[in-house]
Amino acid sequence: MKFSDKAQYLRYLLSRRGMKPIYVILGLTYDCNSFCRTCFNWEQLRKDKEHELSTEELLKTIDSLDDLLFVVMSGGEPFMRRDLPEICEALSKKKGAKQITIPTGAVSPDAIARQAEQILEKCPSTQIVVNISIDHVGEKHDWIRGVPGCYEKAKATYAKLNALKVRFPNFTLNVHTCLCTFNVDDLEELTTVVRRDFPEISFHSFEMLRGDQPDKNIQPITTERYREVLPRLERYWQSFPKYDGFLKFVKIYSRQVELRVLEEETQVTPCFAGTISGVIDARGEVRMCELREAVGNVRDVGYDFGKLWFSPEADRQRASIAAKECHCTHSCFMSSSLVFQPKTWGKYLASTVTSFLGA
Ligand code: SF4
Ligand code: SF4
Repeated sequence: MKFSDKAQYLRYLLSRRGMKPIYVILGLTYDCNSFCRTCFNWEQLRKDKEHELSTEELLKTIDSLDDLLFVVMSGGEPFMRRDLPEICEALSKKKGAKQITIPTGAVSPDAIARQAEQILEKCPSTQIVVNISIDHVGEKHDWIRGVPGCYEKAKATYAKLNALKVRFPNFTLNVHTCLCTFNVDDLEELTTVVRRDFPEISFHSFEMLRGDQPDKNIQPITTERYREVLPRLERYWQSFPKYDGFLKFVKIYSRQVELRVLEEETQVTPCFAGTISGVIDARGEVRMCELREAVGNVRDVGYDFGKLWFSPEADRQRASIAAKECHCTHSCFMSSSLVFQPKTWGKYLASTVTSFLGA
């Protein structure tokens, strides 16, 4: 990450009031070609496709946003939107998005690689991050994702995407795992095999299962178990030297804060959902965060995002969030909030000095 990007964080840190979000989770589709037993969105999937925002509607909505730092695509499977390159181009060229992150179940290697190549060609000034979902190894991964041969397809997707890195220095390829009772006892195997089968990734992140999954035999891990495995994961994460130092620090720090949220059952640091970050879903609903009720639909306000973002209902939710009437361990909102807190910067600088002196 360039110094100018870090300076932009600091600018927003000082002037975030009255702004539209600079960290947007953009739901593109509820269509998906995976059938995950841990899906938090399973009741929405593969329904009412005709109600999803068209390309034109999405572009009009994007036009009404201010400049962006981070965009995280959500779904469904974002690569199933054929207009994904066009949407990314609008975010990059019209809104100056510094980073666009696209998660994928990696079920269609050729189609994903083709789309990724187009996105990289259209967005030379934006960091494009693709996160391949890997929830276990081999047939266990196939089982939890509900797709026979899914693990081998993920390896094929990785090989095709990794080949693009030579031509596109703005491309980052990661692996992401949903941590749950199904895989927590096999972390040694999982991390070893990810290192073997996806050797050139920049980072391997983990997110806790959020609950409300279709297979109730698979559950979120307990706070005690998380406390046990976190030091192990932190050692593992330190073994990714290519990943941006600040982003790695935030990812690790946010996991530590997450543990405190579980232990104390409150927001232990302020959540900036509704100020720094916001959500637009595939059907045009606008939310402060993925876990709160929508404040309205862009279709009802002429695709003018600001009319919903600065509405009385949005203000009411912002007040509720500031009063800590909710708490969660949602990693997107945790990371985006921590990035804009002075305490995080202090800790980052201290850790940088410590490792420099220890080197
Ligand atoms: S890939 Fe994502 S949206 Fe699709 S089934 Fe899995 S968790 Fe759900
Ligand atoms: S604490 Fe969690 S539930 Fe509450 S607003 Fe923030 S992200 Fe949403």
